[in-house]
Amino acid sequence: AKECIANQSKYTSLNAFISLADRASILSRVAKVPPSRNHGPDRLSGQLIAVKDNICTSDLPTTAGSGILKNFTSPYDATVVKQLRDAGAVIAGKTNLDEFGMGSHSVHSFFGPVKNTNARGEELSAGGSSGGSAVAVATGQCTAALGTDTGGSVRLPAAYTGVVGFKPSYGLVSRWGVIAYANSLDTVGVLAKSVAQMRRVFDALNFHDPQDPTSLLPSTRRRLGRPVTQRPLRIGIPLDYNISSLDPTVRKTWMHALKALQQKGHTLHTVNLPATRHALSAYYILAPAEASSNLAKYDGVRYGSRAEGPDGTPDSVLFAKTRGRGFGDEVQRRILLGAFSLSAQAMDNYFIQAQKIRRLVQRDFDGVFSARNPLLTSASSEAEGHREGAGVDVLVCPTAPTPAPELAKVKNQDPVDAYMNDVFTVPASLAGLPAVSVPVKMRETQGSGAGIGMQVIGQFGDDGLVLDVGEELM
Ligand code: GLN
Repeated sequence: AKECIANQSKYTSLNAFISLADRASILSRVAKVPPSRNHGPDRLSGQLIAVKDNICTSDLPTTAGSGILKNFTSPYDATVVKQLRDAGAVIAGKTNLDEFGMGSHSVHSFFGPVKNTNARGEELSAGGSSGGSAVAVATGQCTAALGTDTGGSVRLPAAYTGVVGFKPSYGLVSRWGVIAYANSLDTVGVLAKSVAQMRRVFDALNFHDPQDPTSLLPSTRRRLGRPVTQRPLRIGIPLDYNISSLDPTVRKTWMHALKALQQKGHTLHTVNLPATRHALSAYYILAPAEASSNLAKYDGVRYGSRAEGPDGTPDSVLFAKTRGRGFGDEVQRRILLGAFSLSAQAMDNYFIQAQKIRRLVQRDFDGVFSARNPLLTSASSEAEGHREGAGVDVLVCPTAPTPAPELAKVKNQDPVDAYMNDVFTVPASLAGLPAVSVPVKMRETQGSGAGIGMQVIGQFGDDGLVLDVGEELM
C-alpha cells in the first residue's frame, strides 16, 4: 500500500484519479486487516484497488466524469464496491473517465484528460473510457482497478497502457450502483497487471446479486463454463478482423501470438464472422439510444447541479439550461443521436435495423464456437444452426487496430474516427461474451513500450477459459 501511495504522488500529472482516498485512513485500514492468503473470503486483504468514477461509493464522490454530477456523493456503495471491501480490499480512489463512459481516449472528462506516457516520455492516449483505471494500474498506483465496459472501455485502455483488461460475460458481475450508460451492454470489468491478480479480483465479484435484475441466477450460473478437458485447444482466427486499416505492427504481433499458441500445441483455424463489419454501426445506434433514455434523469431537479433561473422560469427552460451547461459535447452528441434513432420517423431504419444486426452478430459467434450458447434452449440453438463437435474454443484477435495514438492527435479527433477504435471490441459487447485484452510483446519490440493488446473472446460463460488463454499469451 505504501508503494501505491508513493506512486500516486509521483504520477499526479497523469490525472488518473478524480478523487483519492485519504492516505492516513488508507494506512490505518490496511494496518487493521490480516495479511492476505490470496484466496478465500479475504483474498484481497490489504490491497489498494481503484474504482472507476461511474461506480458508486459512499465515502468518495461519484461524478461519472461529468460536470452535472460534480458535487454528487452516493448514499450507498455499489454491490461491486461492497464485495471488494468484504474481501478485505481498501478503495484507493475514483478514477478518471470519459464522461458517463462515452469515449475511447479518456479526453471527454469534466476533470481533464487522462495522460499515458511511453518509455520515451511522449504523451499517448490512455484509451477510454476507463483510461484512469488503466493508467493507475500501469503506474502502480493501485494493485488492480474496476472499470466498466460497454463497447470496449476496459479492453481498449488495457491495450493502450499495456495491462490486462477483462470484460466478463454480461450478467456475471452486478451492475447495481453502477451509473448506467447502455444497460443492455454495460458490464463491470477488471484491470490488473497479471491474469492471476485479475482472477483474484474477479472471483470476489462473480456472484448473483438480487438487487440487479440482469444478474444471472445461481441456477443459470451452474450451467456455465464447461470444463475444457480436451487440450490442445482449437483457436479461431476471425478473418473479418484482418481489415485493411490494421496497423502493420499490430498485424505482426497478432501473427506472433498465434504462432506462440501453435507452438504450445494448440491448433489454429480460420473462421468467418461476416456480420462483424456492421457491428460498429449497430453499436453506435444502440448505445446512444439507451444512453439518451438513461441520461434524461439528469435534469437538475433529481440529481446533480442545476442552472438557476429567475423565479417562475418554466421547467423546460430550466432543464435545457442545466443539461446544456452540465453535459459535455460528446454526451450531448450521443443524446441527440439516440433521441433521433428512437424517434418515430427513424425508429424502423435505425434502431430496429441495429437490433437485427445485433442478433446476426450473436448468431455469427454461436456458429463458430464449439460450445453452444448456454443461454439458448437446445431447440433454439439448433435453429441458430449450431453443430456440436465442430468449431473453435476461443477466438484470438487484436484489441484495437493501432497501438496507442498520440494524445495531441486524438484530442480534437473527428468523432467518427474515435468510434473506429472500437471496431474489434464492440462485437463481443453486442453478444455479451467474455473477452480479455492482454499485452503481447514480440522479441523485436521487447523492452520498448507496453506491448500490443491481443484479445481472447470466448463463448458465453467461458470466462475461465478466456483468462487461461490470455495467460498463455503473456
Ligand atoms: N468507446 C465506446 C463508446 O464511446 C465504448 C465505451 C464504453 O465501453 N463505455 O461508447
